[in-house]
Amino acid sequence: MQLTCWGARGTFPVSGPRYILFGGNTSCLEVAWDDGTEIIVDAGTGLRTLGQKMIKYKQVNKFSLILTHLHWDHIMGFPFYPPFYHFPVTCSIVGHLGASSRLKRLLSLYSREIYSPLNQTRFKTTLNFEDLPEKEWRYGEHLVRYHQHEHPGGALGLRFMGETADAVFCTDNELGLMAKKKKKYAAMVKFVEGAKILIHDANYTEQEYRTRAGWGHSTVSQVVKLAREAGVAKVFLTHHDPDRTDDEVREMMEYGRSLIPSGSDLECEALAEGEGLLL
Ligand SMILES: [Zn+2]
Repeated sequence: MQLTCWGARGTFPVSGPRYILFGGNTSCLEVAWDDGTEIIVDAGTGLRTLGQKMIKYKQVNKFSLILTHLHWDHIMGFPFYPPFYHFPVTCSIVGHLGASSRLKRLLSLYSREIYSPLNQTRFKTTLNFEDLPEKEWRYGEHLVRYHQHEHPGGALGLRFMGETADAVFCTDNELGLMAKKKKKYAAMVKFVEGAKILIHDANYTEQEYRTRAGWGHSTVSQVVKLAREAGVAKVFLTHHDPDRTDDEVREMMEYGRSLIPSGSDLECEALAEGEGLLL
């Protein structure tokens, strides 16, 4: 299984010399299994770059897009995904529990001529809106599990089951709030348990979190704590704040590393746009 990050920025896309290393596009992750099955997670601005690559290198037969939730930074790339205008195939767009009708309404409203000449009326791709089943989703031969996050309006964490190792993607989750609800936090640890890779929202410094509790995001120390408790091999910090420069993201990563006791095998990195993770 290979994961490729096409956007690790949270909240709002950014560009400029201060954001070269970790990138400025918002949430988009490509998950590809060895048999050619692919799932795209989130339609942030990174979706456009992924689409350009797909057109250059591939003939797409069928693809699926999972949206972790409908906040702007996770859907704003949707009408700008080039394959929609090129491939006369079917794309399943899936959201969590009862979200499909809301998703359909929102995306068709958002993709109108009044907002952009690029819109659904020009799509060659047929869109199928589906709800995820209650507990897990089988996509071809592959299994995806999910977990409800603490986030305003709700959001999903996703666990991609590989043949030999799993990867968990948890953008937009407030572990600080979860930790106050023992059962919910224990369920989160169980959801992440034993994953080879955990990609988790670490939007805030410890100091920032003091004034932004309830906004739906986590701090580095909360993420490292979860990774240690769940026995993860490697944790990646993501949902980088739009005000955070490359140097500051690196500082957060270094801080995360400093929290890992000597003797622990846990590794801590900051997720960078364009980065491919092989499991
Ligand atoms: Zn969000």
